[in-house]
Amino acid sequence: MQAELLIHADWILPVDTADRTLARHSLCIDRGRIRALLPRAEAEQQIQATQVLELPDHALIPGLINAHTHAAMTLLRGLADDLPLMTWLHEHIWPAEGRWVDTEFVADGTRLAVLEMLRGGITCFNDMYFYPEVTARIAAAAGMRVLAGMIVVDLPTRYAQDADEYLRRGLELHERYRQHPLARTGFAPHSTYAVSEEPLARIRTLSDELEVQVHTHVHETHDEVVQSLRAHGERPLARLDRLGLLGPRLIAVHMTQLEDAEITRVAETGAHVVHCPESNLKLASGFCRVADLLDAGVNVALGTDGAASNNDLNLLAEMRTAALLAKGVAGSAAAVPAETALRMATLNGAKALGIDDETGSLEVGKAADVVAVDLGNPHTQPLYHACSQMVYAASSNQVQQVWIAGQQVIRDGEPLTLEPDRILAAAHRWRARIAESNAGSKGEPNAGSQAEPNAER
Ligand SMILES: [Zn+2]
Repeated sequence: MQAELLIHADWILPVDTADRTLARHSLCIDRGRIRALLPRAEAEQQIQATQVLELPDHALIPGLINAHTHAAMTLLRGLADDLPLMTWLHEHIWPAEGRWVDTEFVADGTRLAVLEMLRGGITCFNDMYFYPEVTARIAAAAGMRVLAGMIVVDLPTRYAQDADEYLRRGLELHERYRQHPLARTGFAPHSTYAVSEEPLARIRTLSDELEVQVHTHVHETHDEVVQSLRAHGERPLARLDRLGLLGPRLIAVHMTQLEDAEITRVAETGAHVVHCPESNLKLASGFCRVADLLDAGVNVALGTDGAASNNDLNLLAEMRTAALLAKGVAGSAAAVPAETALRMATLNGAKALGIDDETGSLEVGKAADVVAVDLGNPHTQPLYHACSQMVYAASSNQVQQVWIAGQQVIRDGEPLTLEPDRILAAAHRWRARIAESNAGSKGEPNAGSQAEPNAER
């Protein structure tokens, strides 16, 4: 067989039907797809490749899928930390967003996020933010997969005046990217507290018609549930269920407040859960019952959330936090073993986004979304179990090579589709503008009066 690329790696973690670790195997890529995965000796006999890559000490994994983020918020990374949630939102994040978020902000912030994510082995992200047309354009230009969120909130912003306009802009974006190989769209109503029932009902109808996912924050905090009970006499998940939104197209993010009956109901309906352990910990939001969800048969994926509440977009680290936190929450060291954490960050993410026929595992016929991690570093040696090393010890700077749909986007740790110097220069410019205006507005009683709702939380 002729092929473009043959990779010989010491370890391959395909994340297919079984939790396998393949030693001394080879992966063959041609015309954007995985054409073969076989023992090295057989590959050498059967495959004539234009390029042959030797990767000793490396493990190949499927491209990581960040199932929930607000990419452009990288520009607000570290602006305000260690504050109670409402103080953080009302006095820092919302005023900054109200003042600064426009197409240029989203372009520069998303480029920084895409650079960080690609270097960390993330090949696809599920985004919720204003100006998703900018997010989709920038991700696609960098060769990265994205599910750009058709964001909806009730309150007016510079991006849109009301739910109708949010939906109209979203649907235009959906039309434009219908056939795109990398960028897709999903509805992204912020939450049941920020979007009223009429637009939620329309989204339910539209998502059925267009067959696209619905991505929303659900049960992030205890307070959210209490407020919903007070205002509507229902918990947020019950409201989504009554509106017909609880089903296999729902991507429910956070879910830190779950009763037993709710876990059963989520499993019955086939809704997906995205767990964001670091954001939940940093904002003291609560703990998701990940082990119970998995035991009930729920598909649980992993997300970083935005960089203002994490503060990085590092899914390797998120896997470790998820595995450790699940053990603490479940009171069992057997909860979320390394293989499960890797599955959550790859195949489960693809399932949640509705793209598991295309990506999420290293299987013949799927797109070649492949990450090579160098485990030869002192802190990942000696190596008994490659998957354990990947989840419990590896750092994102050990990601050396990344391909998406067969296109190499990271080579020897460096990006091939982005210009880091320009991206960092833009980040520095934003930092100067935002920090200067913050210093200037100190003590003014009306600072923050321009606050607009945001896509964070
Ligand atoms: Zn979020």
